[in-house]
Amino acid sequence: MKKKALLLALALAGSTSAHAQTASPPEPAREDTNDAIKPVNAVAGEVDKLKIIESLQAIKKDPTTVKFHSAMCYDMAMPPAYTTFSCPTCGTETQYHTQSYQGEVANRIAYLSRSLGQIKAKTTVDFSDFCSKCSKDSDDQPELKLTASCIDCGKSFSWTANTIKELEQLPLLFTDFPVTEVDQGHIGEQKIEPEKLSEYLSNRLLCPACREKHGLK
Ligand SMILES: [Zn+2]
Ligand SMILES: [Zn+2]
Repeated sequence: MKKKALLLALALAGSTSAHAQTASPPEPAREDTNDAIKPVNAVAGEVDKLKIIESLQAIKKDPTTVKFHSAMCYDMAMPPAYTTFSCPTCGTETQYHTQSYQGEVANRIAYLSRSLGQIKAKTTVDFSDFCSKCSKDSDDQPELKLTASCIDCGKSFSWTANTIKELEQLPLLFTDFPVTEVDQGHIGEQKIEPEKLSEYLSNRLLCPACREKHGLK
């Protein structure tokens, strides 16, 4: 059931970007020239948004369900020893231990790619370190590199998620503002110490200069 919810969330996440693309330019009414229908479109957009938020919240309740990739067929109680990283750039497949950092990245690739749009700062992710073909510095420890545009000044800045814990924290960024709740995941675990939440979000939504400017250092 959880897997279904997850898939639904992914489908919806995919549909938002589609909406965003088609809905942005002020467009003349197309097929539905019936102007009584117009407000319905707007409402549908809101409903989609709500569904996405609710689904993401459901996923956040148990971040381990995020190990989905093509896991729809896997028995989640017995995760396979190896997982496949499918490079979004070149398509090359690279095998990793499921329970390694690289495996954790591999299992999150679709989730991350589809969820990036939820981050208030426009953010892109570079998976190249994890691809046996695209990786240039194979000797170095692989890094998940993210590049964001500051929500205030638009300047781009980078950050990384280099541990499994940091990967598990990423959903914190998909939250809405004002932040009214944070899901810490399993009982007994903490994605983040409450007093560090502001810093965590600031460091990924604002460039260093703007953090300073707004007293968010
Ligand atoms: Zn590649
Ligand atoms: Zn800035």
